[in-house]
Amino acid sequence: MTRNEQRSTETVPPSGEAASRNGNLSFFENASSNNVREGTSVDLGPGIGSVPADDLDRLVSIHGFLSTGAFIGLQMLFLGRRLLGVSPDKRIHVLCETFNCLPDPFQILGGATVGNKGLIVRDTGKMAVTLTPHTPPGETARGVRLILDPAKTEKFEKLHAWYLNTGKFSHEEIIPILKKAGETVYSYTRVDVPVFGRQKKQVTICPVCGEPYVNTDGGGRHCADCTD
Ligand SMILES: [Zn+2]
Repeated sequence: MTRNEQRSTETVPPSGEAASRNGNLSFFENASSNNVREGTSVDLGPGIGSVPADDLDRLVSIHGFLSTGAFIGLQMLFLGRRLLGVSPDKRIHVLCETFNCLPDPFQILGGATVGNKGLIVRDTGKMAVTLTPHTPPGETARGVRLILDPAKTEKFEKLHAWYLNTGKFSHEEIIPILKKAGETVYSYTRVDVPVFGRQKKQVTICPVCGEPYVNTDGGGRHCADCTD
């Protein structure tokens, strides 16, 4: 892997500012000596890069707190963009393999939402995502699938036990480990994803409830609520 992102090696100023912004984040901002909120950004670990402090605050306020799963999604977002060579201002598409926490960083900071169809969740319960750059219909998107790799988390006893749910740990315990590990606990594969054009949509009025619904396969049946 090449590293395009520089990471901060400076030590942090005392945590007063960080603590006052988000008291619940100080546990990981101060978790290691090479970390931190260097003025306006927060280091996410070796090979991952750093997140603007305001973006991190936004993620925390919308998601509710910095959960372990949200932190993994954040690392995957930054690592995935780096692997794709996509800058933060460019649209990405995301296939997320769990509903648990992981989708939110992509929605809140990645601009890939359920509503704009940038995010699809296919819930297999796996800590994995596929990122693809925005690609015109008819072409093949060259994407990357990232997974938190159990063969690699093994080196970090607590993280591994958290991942396999063989022990209970708080996010304050696990996030600093993820931050220290950085890219070393992830594996990725390159994937080709065909991009289809939009399906022609048709609005049908349900003969049972009288409510209009979008019907993409052209049938004139009842709406889903009124089918059986
Ligand atoms: Zn109906």
